[in-house]
Amino acid sequence: MDSGLATSNGRESRRFRVLLPLPLAPYDYRAPAEGIAVGDIVRVPLGRRQAVGVVWDEADPTAAGALPEERIKDIVAKVDVPPLTTPLRRFIEWVAQYTLSPLGAVLRMTLSVPAALEPERAHRGYVYSGTPPARMTPARARVLETAAAGPIRSKAALAESAGASAAVVGALIDQGILVAVAMPAPQASAIDPERAGPQLTTAQRTSVAKLLGDIQAGGFHATLLEGVTGSGKTEVYFEVIAAALRRGRQCLVLVPEIALTAQWLERFEARFGARPAEWHSDLTAAQRRRAWRAVADGRARVVVGARSALFLPFAELGLIVVDEEHESSYKQEEGVIYHARDMAVVRASLGEISVVLVSATPALETVVNAASGRYDRLDLPDRHGTAELPTIAAIDMRNERLPATRWISAPLAAALAENLARGEQSMLYLNRRGYAPLTLCRACGHRLACPHCSAWLVDHRLLGMLQCHHCGYTAATPIECPSCHARESFAACGPGVERLADEVAALLPTARVAVAASDTIDTPARANALIERIVKREIDIVIGTQIVAKGHHFPMLTLVGVVDADLGLSGGDLRAAERTFQVLVQVAGRAGRALHAGRVLVQTHDPRHPVIQALLAGDRERFLAKEADERELHQLPPFGRLAAVIVSGPDEREAAAFARRLAQVAPREAAGVRVLGPAPAPLSLLRGRYRFRLLLMAERGIKVQPIIADWLDKAPLRRHVRVQVDIDPYSFL
Ligand code: ADP
Ligand code: ZN
Repeated sequence: MDSGLATSNGRESRRFRVLLPLPLAPYDYRAPAEGIAVGDIVRVPLGRRQAVGVVWDEADPTAAGALPEERIKDIVAKVDVPPLTTPLRRFIEWVAQYTLSPLGAVLRMTLSVPAALEPERAHRGYVYSGTPPARMTPARARVLETAAAGPIRSKAALAESAGASAAVVGALIDQGILVAVAMPAPQASAIDPERAGPQLTTAQRTSVAKLLGDIQAGGFHATLLEGVTGSGKTEVYFEVIAAALRRGRQCLVLVPEIALTAQWLERFEARFGARPAEWHSDLTAAQRRRAWRAVADGRARVVVGARSALFLPFAELGLIVVDEEHESSYKQEEGVIYHARDMAVVRASLGEISVVLVSATPALETVVNAASGRYDRLDLPDRHGTAELPTIAAIDMRNERLPATRWISAPLAAALAENLARGEQSMLYLNRRGYAPLTLCRACGHRLACPHCSAWLVDHRLLGMLQCHHCGYTAATPIECPSCHARESFAACGPGVERLADEVAALLPTARVAVAASDTIDTPARANALIERIVKREIDIVIGTQIVAKGHHFPMLTLVGVVDADLGLSGGDLRAAERTFQVLVQVAGRAGRALHAGRVLVQTHDPRHPVIQALLAGDRERFLAKEADERELHQLPPFGRLAAVIVSGPDEREAAAFARRLAQVAPREAAGVRVLGPAPAPLSLLRGRYRFRLLLMAERGIKVQPIIADWLDKAPLRRHVRVQVDIDPYSFL
């Protein structure tokens, strides 16, 4: 229930600034002298309706421009949830300033579940009164038996357990045969930090000791925990979680969305005796509401979640773990554009707690931060137990002379056949969804493109249509070429994972094949189902995009084929080589994680490329050093700062004109800042909007946000034109 507030009279009242989850600055409201404090979540009048916001700080009625007392409205009520903590409010302010977003837009990521702010509906359950109904039916008998025997159940749960309709249960309630009772209050989490974990190796113990020292000392500590896949990093951070829990603090584990799987949850449960709270896009509205409240009132002791979990209203956060910290999916590209790994470090720093960044292939940014002493660095050198790193060999595709519709070389095909004969599992990695990336007319060469984006349409045979991977536009393959009017002239060009599955079926007709891509494996539940089939050995060959590169444990997977290692090495993205290297190492890490040694075959047209060379040598340090030199030379991140300003609009000329106007008033070079562009963005047409980008480059020591804010102020926005700022851009689309 909300606690209502007595109407205040002017003299005994206080004035607060209340921030609403809207792209607005805080507004002043009046509160009685007592009963409201900074951080409280409150209901306030807004125009003719009411809105929920957060008491941000005390307002100064004597400040210039302050509203006169008679125009100030009263806070209506305090919402019955714990207040937002000071570190969280500082964090929201920090993110708003850093990303140049309105404060309220960032708050909205915290108040993301309006239903969780509604008074909780009293949970009612039903029990059998003991008086049988006048007329007994089999369904009624089942319901009464269930109600008499089991735990107290809600109406819906009763109907479901008894295999009866809600109407049957409803009738029994109406007749007073089932009576309502209050359901027991939701239980605090049963996560038990005292349960014993495995006997740790010496390297694991050293890492744990350092991290526990940080937790005991308190204060901000950032640590990179590095080690090849299977080296036991997860066990190490489980120990650190246990330590934080023992000190009465909540823990947050960030994972890339799709890596949040049953495997991870089961391991957690085996270690701590209960599951953590989950936070990701696959939750139902009710689960979301429950999770939000449990985090806010401290019942959820450990939360595992995707990037947005960082904004949850933790009551007493004491530790953040960022697993697979190098993952580019930590970058949120829409709305408030932020990088969850970087913001996790900020959150930890403001909360004066520890943050542990975990990866087998840390991002260059993170490695450089560790080298400069900003982060501590811990290394787990060996794989746990007997498992060995796979052997990695290149297949030079220039010698293979495959026909134009085949992509699996003879050596890779032979290795797949051997593995199948031995009853071991294989994986083919190709980072291309669908059947074919391009469809063209054999008569005139016309390529089918998206009408809303500058992108080719991708052939998806499983869906039975062509699809744009940028806006989701779909169409059937036309019978007639729109350009030359030839009939049935379209041919698929190049491979996607679906097409590889066809090739494997032709090569190895008895193999059981599964295709895994983000369009078919798009929720943790689906990822779980696939992983279970692999673990149960119902699948011989998995063909997948980078989603299969995530840290799963498949003991019988002993061969990984990288179908096209060159893909991703080209392109205008400053992190392309780094990302390719990471994915290849991760994919290689899938092979031979248990007793069986694994091998990785890498198909490439450029075996001398530094990335491929470093991969074959397993020499990540060499690769990172080369990459760091390269970036330092060009003043690119993390040695310099980048910010993208993207101008877009439905009218190409209008958007282009505005982008040129911005360039005219751009900050001058003297300030240690350089502005490039405008240039049409690589995806110059996206979802029907024409896009132009300007790129601001600055020396590392320069704070770019005030410079950009001043700059944008000099060119007032026009109608239909939108400007987005992306600080530290990752996507160069
Ligand atoms: P990573 O997180 O580095 O990939 P994990 O922590 O998942 O590595 O460890 C890999 C495997 O080894 C897991 O099955 C894990 O349970 C097991 N393992 C790790 N450390 C130990 C240990 N000290 N004792 C027993 N098993 C361990
Ligand atoms: Zn499109």
